Order: sequence, then C-alpha cells, then structure tokens
Amino acid sequence: MVSTSVRSLENHSPAHICPFDQACSYLEWAGKELKLDQGLLEILSHPRKVVTVSIPVKLDDGEVRVLAGHRVQHSDVLGPYKGGIRYHPAVTLREVSALAMLMTWKCALVGIPYGGAKGGIPIDPKRYSVGELERISRRYISELIKDIGPAVDIPAPDMGTSAREMAWMMDTYSVNVGHAVPGVVTGKPLSIGGSRGREMATGRGVMIVVREALADQGKSLVGVRVVIQGFGNVGCAAAELLHQEGAKVIAVSTGAGGVFSQTGLDIPALKAYAANNHKSVAGFPQATPISNADLLTLPCDVLIPAALENQITEENVHQVKAQIVAEAANGPVTLEANLSLEARGVTVLPDILANAGGVVVSYLEWVQGLSYVFWDEERVNREMEHLMVQAYRQVVQQSKARQVTLRLAAYTLGVGRVAQALTDRGLYP
Ligand code: GLU
Repeated sequence: MVSTSVRSLENHSPAHICPFDQACSYLEWAGKELKLDQGLLEILSHPRKVVTVSIPVKLDDGEVRVLAGHRVQHSDVLGPYKGGIRYHPAVTLREVSALAMLMTWKCALVGIPYGGAKGGIPIDPKRYSVGELERISRRYISELIKDIGPAVDIPAPDMGTSAREMAWMMDTYSVNVGHAVPGVVTGKPLSIGGSRGREMATGRGVMIVVREALADQGKSLVGVRVVIQGFGNVGCAAAELLHQEGAKVIAVSTGAGGVFSQTGLDIPALKAYAANNHKSVAGFPQATPISNADLLTLPCDVLIPAALENQITEENVHQVKAQIVAEAANGPVTLEANLSLEARGVTVLPDILANAGGVVVSYLEWVQGLSYVFWDEERVNREMEHLMVQAYRQVVQQSKARQVTLRLAAYTLGVGRVAQALTDRGLYP
C-alpha cells in the first residue's frame, strides 16, 4: 500500500531508501498490529494536500533563480496541520511527504490537537546571504498564503530554519491579511509572541525520555556515557542539558566531522568553540577527532542520532554498541536496523516520541498566543515535561500490553488515535 500521488510526482530520490516508502511501511506495520480497516489505511497512506510552488528570487548579484518550495499536509483529522519547514539541499517531495506523515503520528502520540504537515526548500542556507534568505522565506510563505493560517496549518522551524525565518514568515502573512497574526507560525522570537523554552525544547524532550528510559533500568543520568551525532539546535541542546544533569557526553559531531574524549567533553566550551567555528566542532582542541561513521560505533550507554535520516542501517547496525538509542532526528534508524537492535535488547526510543519536545512547546506557544497570556520558562518546561513523561509512560505501557517494541507501541498509539478520530468523523460525502 503506497501513496501513488506522491510517487508519481517525483520519481527520483537521492537516498537509496525512499523515505516515503519507509513511512508507509511503518504505517502498514502499525495498521497490521491494530487490525485496522484497509480503507482507513488507504486514506492515511495519502497526504491530504501536496503543494509545490515556484520561488523566484533575485540574488544579491542580480541573477534570478527559481527555487522549488514544498508543503505537504498529511492529515488534519485531529486539528490544524502542524510541522516545520526545512531548508536543506537533500529536501525532496518524498522526504517532505514522509516527514509530514510522521508529524501526524507524533502530534497524536503526545496528545496535542494537531494534524501533521511539513515544508521544505532544497537549498543549503549557508550558501545564501541573509537578504537572499529573507526574500526566499517571504516569497515561499506568500505563495502558500491560502494554505496556511492559525486554524489551518501552522509552520515552525526545522533543519536550516529558526526563529528568524519564522519572524519573516509571520510578518509576510500578517502584512498580506492586513493585521498581525502571531498564531500563524510557532518557534517565533519572544518579541512577537514566541514561547520561553522553545529553542531548547526538542533537546529537552530528548533528555527527558532518555532520563525516563534509564530510570526504568534502575539508572540515573549521572555518569552515563552519551554519544551525539549532530550538534545543531537539537543535538546541542540535548548535549547541554544531559551534561547539566551529570551525564558524560563523550563524543559529538557535525557534518564536517566529530570529536571524542573518553573522560567527557566540556560541552559549554565546545558550544562556544562551535559558535566561533561556523557551527562545526571539528578541530576542538581538548578532544580527539573522530569521523561520523566511527562515532556511531563507539562503546557508550546512550547513542543519540540528532542529524539526518537513515544513519543506522543494516550495514552498520551490528557495530552499534549503545544500550539505548534515542532518535532525536526523524528516521535516523531504518526499520531493519531497528528490529536488529531490539533483537539484541537495545532500547530504541522512536523519533515520534524522542523528538516531540519541539512540537509540544510549539503547541504551548500557540496556546499562550491564543489566550494572550504568556508563561515563565519554569511553567513552560513543567507543562512540557508532563506531556513528554505521560507520552513515554503510555508508550511503555502499550509495549508491555501488546508485547511489541517501543517503536511499534508509539506508532500504534499515534496511528490508532488518528484512525479512531477518522472513524468517528466519518468519510465525507
Ligand atoms: N520541526 C519540528 C519537528 O519535526 C517541530 C515542528 C513544530 O513545532 O511544529 O517536530
């Protein structure tokens, strides 16, 4: 069962594993376990709306370039579409479609009233000036003006975008409709209705689920050896918070390579180093260089892939030595690799649970904005912690009740809730 609409739109994917096929196979897997009706599965395997727009942009040197901008709205059965916008050279329509589907299950799993969507532009933002990025972001969102809105579809940051892009998008939308609409995006700067705690939220969620998984094994974070692939917004925040809680972060990496220290890296020093080194950790003086591939195979307690998808595959899974793998990125462990890890007794905390902290605080930002009441960081973190721990507990309980892995438990919860809502709403006409 596959979505022919997405496949026929784009027949070429740079990765050898098609991300949309993979997302559909997770859905099928959950559907089988839940004994879902075939018609329901058919509906859920198709995005509700797929939009690709042309973004003509005048570069600083006067050249006019036309970029593609995607927005895939997978499901709005539970509420407005919700999901980030990615600026990355590897963005494809298939990838965006897969990520949109993941957002649907993620929001349902953590119990927030949203559907799932994702957007993306295939660019390397480092190759564009700030002015060019502003023109690209504004034109992209103005092309999508009829498809988004605080009750329709609410974008947020993802890889390659941040509060800065959200501010441009909020402003463009607002100017077009004639009044300020802060609720049209989340992950905004504090000055225009952003939430305290949003920037660290995904990393904080990762720390919370790792802490809970360790507690279930009778351990605490103190002294635990952690390896993190990726030192962007998510990986860096997770490293900082885990370090603060007493864990020993022994290796981290960025695209340009990684660094390793058996005694644990000084994360605040590494963060300062990366900030002055084009966001790269390579060359950090107090550590040994290590490649991204070798980093995944280091002996450690917790491995956190926080970069791109398909990093742990059938090819390298047998070399992974961690006891817990927390998927901070979306889809970093393939289905086959996941099964092989779990057969060896490794706990795999699935992406739709492990990286849900970001969208949870996006929801809290939206709620604060709609109620015109803004909370202090302590309250945001407390509310988020509650939703994350609750989702973790439900996944563990579901995995015990159904005798399935945490991933299948998480998917059955997410998919099951959407399927129930779809059944209750009925099929129109
Ligand atoms: N991009 C983040 C994710 O993949 C956050 C999405 C959001 O806040 O809407 O979960």
